[in-house]
Amino acid sequence: MIKLGSHVSMKKPDYLSGSVNEALSYNANAMMIYTGAPQNSFRVPVENLKIQQARKRWLENGHSMDDLIVHAPYVINLANTAKLETFEMGKRVLRNELIRSSAIGAKYLVLHPGSSLKDTLENGIDIVVEGLNEVLKEGFDVTVCLETMAGKGSEIGYRFEHLAEIISRVDYPLGVCFDTCHTWDSGYDLNNLDQILEEFDRIIGLDKLHVLHINDSKNVVGARKDRHANIGEGNIGFDILSNVVHHPLLKGKTMILETPYIDGLPPYKEEIKKLLNRNSWGL
Ligand code: FE
Ligand code: FE
Ligand code: ZN
Repeated sequence: MIKLGSHVSMKKPDYLSGSVNEALSYNANAMMIYTGAPQNSFRVPVENLKIQQARKRWLENGHSMDDLIVHAPYVINLANTAKLETFEMGKRVLRNELIRSSAIGAKYLVLHPGSSLKDTLENGIDIVVEGLNEVLKEGFDVTVCLETMAGKGSEIGYRFEHLAEIISRVDYPLGVCFDTCHTWDSGYDLNNLDQILEEFDRIIGLDKLHVLHINDSKNVVGARKDRHANIGEGNIGFDILSNVVHHPLLKGKTMILETPYIDGLPPYKEEIKKLLNRNSWGL
């Protein structure tokens, strides 16, 4: 079965229960939330998130908690070697997000590996590994999935090798989230999808791939920009994104749209429908 949904908001008064309703309104069988604003670490206590109601409704609709993905806030930068406070804060926030994700009943927490800023990529990777080992040693029933990045600025994770190195050096199991816009922007030409999946499998292992972000890109392959476009409106195009969604090797992986709103409205119901129904794009 194809598991396809989008990121959805979580806001008062209904919180997670409202998020589930939003996802269901798009006919989604997967969803992704931030447990608070993505840009900061201010968090409403989990007791207030209406988790039981949300879970009940999600499960009643035949969906799985494994397809309710959490994305960690962007403030976490475990690759900042210059500022110890940022590294320490990142570990604290990550730990808190793992606890919150676990309370929600989520299985996967998507995390950006981080940016090494003025320092080298190698030093950045070293400290990411150190940070992850420190946080994960406590033991959580949630798997951190490192996201493939566009390679904007000093971002780590724009080559599969970066993620493979982190995974091999961290003492606890990690997963990966493959973002189509990011991999495209980082230089993987998704016209050669089979070849790229073969490369991913060789370097990281497809068994580590739990989540995909399905986004078109406003930029050309290799631009290292990271600007998401609506499905079929960008440089990747509908055909390739549809091939990703329907690829036999990606069967059962949780797929999430993070495309922009159109005229202030979420495009997800339409985009889900079009991606599931290959021929409905007027082809
Ligand atoms: Fe992300
Ligand atoms: Fe993403
Ligand atoms: Zn992005």
